[in-house]
Amino acid sequence: MSDKKDIRALTKEQLRSFFEEIGQPAFRGNQVYEWLWQKSVHSFDAMTNISKATRAKLQEQFVINHIKVDQLQRSSDGTIKNAVRLHDDLIVESVLIPVKDRTTACVSSQVGCSLDCQFCATARLKRMRNLNPDEIYDQVVAIHNESLLYFNRPLTNIVFMGMGEPLMNYNNVLKAIDKITSPEGLGMSPKRITVSTSGVPKMIKKLADDKVRFNLAVSLHSAIEEVRTSIMPFNATFSLTDLRDSLIYWYKQTKSRITYEYVVWEGINDKPRDIEALIKFCKFAPAKVNLIEYNPIDDERFRQASSRAIEAYVKALEEEGITVTVRRSRGKDIDAACGQLANKTT
Ligand code: SAH
Repeated sequence: MSDKKDIRALTKEQLRSFFEEIGQPAFRGNQVYEWLWQKSVHSFDAMTNISKATRAKLQEQFVINHIKVDQLQRSSDGTIKNAVRLHDDLIVESVLIPVKDRTTACVSSQVGCSLDCQFCATARLKRMRNLNPDEIYDQVVAIHNESLLYFNRPLTNIVFMGMGEPLMNYNNVLKAIDKITSPEGLGMSPKRITVSTSGVPKMIKKLADDKVRFNLAVSLHSAIEEVRTSIMPFNATFSLTDLRDSLIYWYKQTKSRITYEYVVWEGINDKPRDIEALIKFCKFAPAKVNLIEYNPIDDERFRQASSRAIEAYVKALEEEGITVTVRRSRGKDIDAACGQLANKTT
């Protein structure tokens, strides 16, 4: 690996100072910044409004690290999964999900994951490292380009529901979202972005303090302390009580409704007491519930509950006036569905 510096780790201000230091006007920094982010070029030679001599100078000192889509798999339902190679040869996955007139990018925030959700394939990979802001941004750009190429329309939504726990890579995820929403990047509205967390109370409070404007989703799966701990062992540390407090705080600060992601499993959370606990939890702060289909990952403890059990959830939640949607999985045939991202093809 080269010991040159990754130019995309510099802020616009730092780029401007760099040019001043080499005796050139600071606005060259803005020009280069635009090439790097808005135009996403991969080489200094593509920066045609920068002189050849200056490009050579940049080349001497910097590299442009860039992700590379190593393999692209297409599902029969249109979903596309990218295996993304990072500059140090580690791999993450990201997914393009086309639905009606929308295209959603599902992006990764870490290589592997440090959490231990028992039902998730990514949890079986240990956490290798956090992704840099540019590596997150590049996944979005790659999917935006694929959307134009294959579906003739731009990317419309982004969900941080790929590999990793976004709130355990807080600064880089927020920096990436800054670039995605900035007019100098993709200029996307934060309302079209959802960050999904397994529930890290301290970081949810930080999001609220930082007054972020994107949506928050929480992978709840159970509102009963011991049940949740049995399927998501970190719940012993980040308890439901703390999670609840952080969500109340989030709502107070942002006035933004929370989405709970919830899978119903046979014999785990398919009883009336599970439903009652969820309803109670939904009343702490305005929330809607997404009941998601379980994607089997080769573990006998977990089986999708019967449709009767799921209907019981829907009925009870609706009776309480809580919005509930039942979400079918996409991209299952290529292991691109929720909880299936585990670099199996590599
Ligand atoms: N770590 C974050 C981001 C990952 S999002 C989080 O947990 O929210 C991935 C979503 O898929 C989460 O809601 C997760 O609980 C869910 N999931 C994990 N494994 C799954 C599986 N096998 N079937 C269906 N959903 C699963």
